[in-house]
Amino acid sequence: MIVMAKFALLNVSVIDGYGGWPEAHMAVLVKDGIIDRIICMDRYKKEDGVQEILLDGYYVMPGLIDAHVHLAGGRGDYLYGETEVLAEPKMVRTIRSVYEAQKILKRGFTSVRDISWNGLYLKRIFGEGIMPGPRIIACGPGLTRTGGHADLYQYTEEYVKENHFWGVLADGNDEIKKWVRRLLREGADQIKIWSSGGGNWAHDRNEDVHYTFDEIKTCVHEAHMIKGTMVSAHAENNESIRMSVDAGVDTIEHGEELDEEIAEKMADKGIILVPTMNLLVNWYTEIMPSGAEGAEIIRPDVFLHRTVDDKTNEEEQARIIKSTMDNFTLARDKGVKIALGSDTVYEPLTTYGEYSALEFKQLVRCGMTIPEAIKAATLTSSEALGMSHRIGTIERGKAADLLVVKRNPVSSVDVLYDPQNISMIFSGGRLAVEDGRLAF
Ligand SMILES: [Zn+2]
Repeated sequence: MIVMAKFALLNVSVIDGYGGWPEAHMAVLVKDGIIDRIICMDRYKKEDGVQEILLDGYYVMPGLIDAHVHLAGGRGDYLYGETEVLAEPKMVRTIRSVYEAQKILKRGFTSVRDISWNGLYLKRIFGEGIMPGPRIIACGPGLTRTGGHADLYQYTEEYVKENHFWGVLADGNDEIKKWVRRLLREGADQIKIWSSGGGNWAHDRNEDVHYTFDEIKTCVHEAHMIKGTMVSAHAENNESIRMSVDAGVDTIEHGEELDEEIAEKMADKGIILVPTMNLLVNWYTEIMPSGAEGAEIIRPDVFLHRTVDDKTNEEEQARIIKSTMDNFTLARDKGVKIALGSDTVYEPLTTYGEYSALEFKQLVRCGMTIPEAIKAATLTSSEALGMSHRIGTIERGKAADLLVVKRNPVSSVDVLYDPQNISMIFSGGRLAVEDGRLAF
């Protein structure tokens, strides 16, 4: 199907992204990539030069948004992570990242917030319109301390600095300032910082605090000096969440140890939580199964008494999962804004596209209604991207990032999960995917 600059999607049910139910018998008019009007079919009149697309019984909704991905082009499993592919040519990883981004797009995610070097450049290429890809809000690589989440003890420090896909080592106020400025110069839209550890290696446990309050504040100050630059903080323990919130970050990634006071503060200040629930809830069953063959490799003797995440006791694992779910409920109860973020990072561990869609399912499994999860995946995620003025809802004046869905997405969480239900995906009014295939 060739879609013209002016087109109308006719007789559809519209889900606008605000968390409501679909509205039937509507027409959505798009002109030059922008949503021009959403009106009742009764009031619709054909205009010259408008291509009409009759879609009886179909649903139109905003493109989904994944606020936490790494289009890093690496490969890895739970055991070795990326250590085996760090020596690959950077070019290989960059080319692979195109495949990753397009896989996400094919599942109905028309925008992503990326944390990797590749995102800075993919953004330019997709922006040129020469091949289909999601809209990319690029953080570039995130800031990690030496020995932090984006460090790899298996390699020398120099090697990590030169080759890490999604992190840069920055210690102290001066290096943090310099890296924020460098990344902004390179085209970063946002800045990402690892305030806490994240379970990649022995000095990188979730309970470890990785930056001082002063360092996080410097990062935020430096980013916010350039108006509109948001900061996202990976923070997995209570202290690092508290420090990040007080330092003025805009989004908290993971954030599984909130308390009432922090949740209230986040709700007050409009700080968004990107809870990555699918990753956290399935951590012990899928990502880091304890007792798996070779598991001692990730718990090497060099670290003696320190282990990554050695919760071999099933009762303890169940307790942690329950507390993560309770934390999510607390955030919802306190009115914290919650966005969809999958933390897809490399295959085969996390499959691009599928993992984004799984996060949508998980938000519902953890207690959201389907309309609420759609709002998280559209409007609230657009806020996490700092892009709610352009995308995230179906409204006059917004970019026509649209999904045409064959079945009612609100009827079952499986509708959006199954890509066969997505008939068309528009990005900025351009048909990008049709029946699961890239359209140009
Ligand atoms: Zn991540």
